Amino acid sequence: MQTPSAAAPQAPRAAREPESRPSGNSSNQSTVVNSPVVQVQGLGKTYQTARGALNLFEDLNLEVAAGEMVAIVGQSGAGKSTLLHILGALDTPSAGTVYCASTNVAKLSAREAAAFRNREIGYVWQFHYLLPEFTALENVAMPLLARNMRKVEALRTADKWLSEVELEDRGDHRPGELSGGEQQRVALARALVCEPRLLLADEPTGDLDNSTAGRVFDLIERLHRSHGLTSILVTHNMDLAVRCRRVLRLGNGRLTEITDAGSKPLQAGNLG
Ligand code: ADP
Repeated sequence: MQTPSAAAPQAPRAAREPESRPSGNSSNQSTVVNSPVVQVQGLGKTYQTARGALNLFEDLNLEVAAGEMVAIVGQSGAGKSTLLHILGALDTPSAGTVYCASTNVAKLSAREAAAFRNREIGYVWQFHYLLPEFTALENVAMPLLARNMRKVEALRTADKWLSEVELEDRGDHRPGELSGGEQQRVALARALVCEPRLLLADEPTGDLDNSTAGRVFDLIERLHRSHGLTSILVTHNMDLAVRCRRVLRLGNGRLTEITDAGSKPLQAGNLG
């Protein structure tokens, strides 16, 4: 059985010039890494339903270089969430290979997948899914406690992350005592507290008003840069999507590049 640390095969020649990112979690580091963090080849996904087989993807390919911030847009039902779930080892492909953070995610056992997610993936959903009976600080500390970090250390690290999302004065609030934007910022801190390589965000601002959505997006952008993340964001908000240097449209089981780093600035209206 493949272990979570199994190395990815040699990358096929990149279809696009990768961006570079710092090799560690500090923006001060000068070493750059250009290897792809996500490599999907020939991905197929079929759901078996009562009405028969539902073929979502047949031959989907995707490569995301370290440090890229990519938006995925597309109609509802196109398979955007399913794609993120597969990348994050929450769902399995029916065909093809999916290397994510140097790991063949399709080959992981349930236990290995959980460890892989805890180590490599920060996941943010449209709804915060914070645990209502715990404080913001405890919610952020959860992934650290799940990896058996001592409680005092986990809470100290969680506190640092609450500062990163500018909520250090809300640590003792329960989720019900936070605004929608604050809840999502706590969810972002929880997603990043284990310092993952890859941030997967599924409509992270979809439940927020425009101005709050813009501020949460600003924060994602800032943390993406300062922590050397690779980020893939699903959004239906074109104004936010175009702030990513690379925008992909998912439709008819295929990903199409709408823009690329270095191309002329994109506006929401260009997305067609
Ligand atoms: P999107 O995020 O683009 O709106 P989804 O990935 O959520 O799309 O869903 C794509 C399609 O797959 C939808 O038609 C949905 O009903 C179907 N689907 C999603 N999950 C399952 C499942 N577990 N079983 C069967 N069909 C599913």
